[in-house]
Amino acid sequence: MNKSIVIIGAGLSGLYLGYLLKKAGFTIKIVEANDRIGGRIFTKKTHDTPVELGATWLWKYNKELMALCQELKLTLFEQAMAGEALFEATTASTVQRFKLPANQDISYRIAGGTLALLEQLAAHFSEDELLLNATVKTIKEQGNAIEVITEHSTFIADSVVSTMPPQLLVNSIHFPVALDDELVDVANHCHTWMKDSIKFAVVYKTPFWKKKGLSGTGFSHVGPFTEIYDHSDVAHKRFALMGFLNGNLAAETKAQREVLVKHQLLKFFGDDGENYLSYEEMVWSQAPLTTTATDTYLNPHANNGHPIFQNMYLNGKFIVAGSETSPSYGGYMEGAIYRGHQIALLLKTTFL
Ligand SMILES: Cc1cc2nc3c(=O)[nH]c(=O)nc-3n(C[C@H](O)[C@H](O)[C@H](O)COP(=O)(O)OP(=O)(O)OC[C@H]3O[C@@H](n4cnc5c(N)ncnc54)[C@H](O)[C@@H]3O)c2cc1C
Repeated sequence: MNKSIVIIGAGLSGLYLGYLLKKAGFTIKIVEANDRIGGRIFTKKTHDTPVELGATWLWKYNKELMALCQELKLTLFEQAMAGEALFEATTASTVQRFKLPANQDISYRIAGGTLALLEQLAAHFSEDELLLNATVKTIKEQGNAIEVITEHSTFIADSVVSTMPPQLLVNSIHFPVALDDELVDVANHCHTWMKDSIKFAVVYKTPFWKKKGLSGTGFSHVGPFTEIYDHSDVAHKRFALMGFLNGNLAAETKAQREVLVKHQLLKFFGDDGENYLSYEEMVWSQAPLTTTATDTYLNPHANNGHPIFQNMYLNGKFIVAGSETSPSYGGYMEGAIYRGHQIALLLKTTFL
């Protein structure tokens, strides 16, 4: 079979769909604007320690993602929660210790970092099939085919699948023949999961919190961090804490945020807390390949998995995909995999 599919985006959705379609015999090209794969999966290595600035956890009920991890022989390990947690209620109160209830859902992490999943998938493509630094600008029909135009190249395919978050798609790609009005409206009101989050990670020489009987887990109503967790590696050889900052700190500089975080780490963990080896962060509201500046407030997961995403557009040649279009676990990694299966089936039914 010699049907060609261009996939826009080399996040989990794009790489997984490419993996399925290549196995099914399609000719594929994955076109990614960034200089890295992963999209909202962003594992950064600092002091030899992989820290997650994007997606971190999966859960037992993420059945398709769990099965994929097994297929790719990835090792999963439980999020460390043993020990007491910390809670800061107000600026005036001291940080309190408390016991976490035992019956919580177990969260799992991927050994080596979430990026290991993407690297396994990316290993299936040649340099010709997976292109980085190629920003798609325009999508248009051309006779029986469809064209994807970047700054430097034009790719012609039988079908194009976008895995960009729908809101970003309709605000950053030019369609000379306009997309369906209702689709554009739903996409404009489709929430992009975690688009306003700020993640940070601090790497340490030792897991000093364990000696204090702490799990590393903490919650705060004060901030700058609202949640923090142990983020040490699977082998317990590299040690880190990772958490989320209050989203309204996006207006500050990185240096200003770090000063605030350092002060709170001192308050939570004492002198050891502020003696970290490195501070890393990612402000997702400032990531132009995830979200747009024109965003208005949307409820979390609004319009995720909307039925309109099930249709094909531009006379059956264009499909809107990505985790947010999944009717199951939209916005999460599981959604990216679920939707990948749906689209692979749709394209096989259309072309085979
Ligand atoms: C901070 C944070 C924490 C998260 N935590 C979790 C978690 O613990 N568990 C979980 O299940 N999920 C989590 N998520 C959600 C998870 O990351 C996403 O569900 C998943 O990564 C989405 O994958 P995707 O491929 O659909 O979209 P994306 O990862 O957004 O991929 C879209 C790709 O399109 C590319 N692109 C954009 N514009 C263009 C263009 N014009 N031309 C070419 N390429 C373009 C982008 O660069 C990107 O690579 C988290 C997300 C964030 C941001």
